[in-house]
Amino acid sequence: GYMEEKVSIKGFLEMENISASFNHMLNRLQKLEDSRQEFVSNVSHELKTPITSIKVLADSLLSQEDVPGELYKEFLVDITEEIERENKIINDLLSLVKMDKKSGEMNISSVNINGLVEQILKRLQPIADKRNIELVFETFRPVIAEVDEVKISLAINNLIENAIKYNYEDGWVHVTLNADHKFFYLKVADSGVGIPEDAQDSIFERFYRVDKARSRETGGTGLGLSITRNAVLMHRGAIKVYSKEQEGTTFTVRIPLTYIA
Ligand code: ADP
Repeated sequence: GYMEEKVSIKGFLEMENISASFNHMLNRLQKLEDSRQEFVSNVSHELKTPITSIKVLADSLLSQEDVPGELYKEFLVDITEEIERENKIINDLLSLVKMDKKSGEMNISSVNINGLVEQILKRLQPIADKRNIELVFETFRPVIAEVDEVKISLAINNLIENAIKYNYEDGWVHVTLNADHKFFYLKVADSGVGIPEDAQDSIFERFYRVDKARSRETGGTGLGLSITRNAVLMHRGAIKVYSKEQEGTTFTVRIPLTYIA
């Protein structure tokens, strides 16, 4: 009698454990499925928006007779902008797919990070000049790291582009590169609009934008920082954000110098 009782209590406790972890697993699966559905619905929405605008613009041109040449041109400019926006969303989505931790492949080589940052800054200089934003690069030593050049380049590009986009006229962007024997450290600091504290956790989520209207104006898709974070994580790196509204934002990235698969 005693033995039996002991066994059945033990069995019962095990059942409890199994059913608890089963429930836990189901919950996690449900969350994954929810976020997958949300992503698909966001993608559809984002892709549809420019197409809808293009349709409205084209329809209104077609429905009018004898449209003055000037007006014609104005509409075509708008249509071209919407096509460019659609293009950007598609390109960002393709980058995001490549940055998928499970399906994304790593193409590792020795990369001169100083040179890479300089190249990116040179490419972004004209955008900064338009709003008289000063780009400064401070580097403490030559850094060579085993990374996927395309992915790291996209990650750094997104951070610096954001620092320019979400900045004030006559502002500044300071990029700092440093390293020790294990990691390199990249810091992108700006004098821009900042990120509200309650949004600082969400900015890395796909399609998340603090200010949808302004972000659309600046050509944002809300995918840049998720691309950046995925790229960093694929290298077993880390990324952090510090920000104060109306004062500025600093992103810090830490990437191992040698790649561990
Ligand atoms: P987006 O394409 O909208 O720029 P991101 O994923 O790159 O998308 O960034 C998400 C949001 O985080 C942006 O819409 C913006 O609100 C905020 N953000 C990103 N970087 C900065 C920054 N340097 N300063 C202020 N806000 C930023």
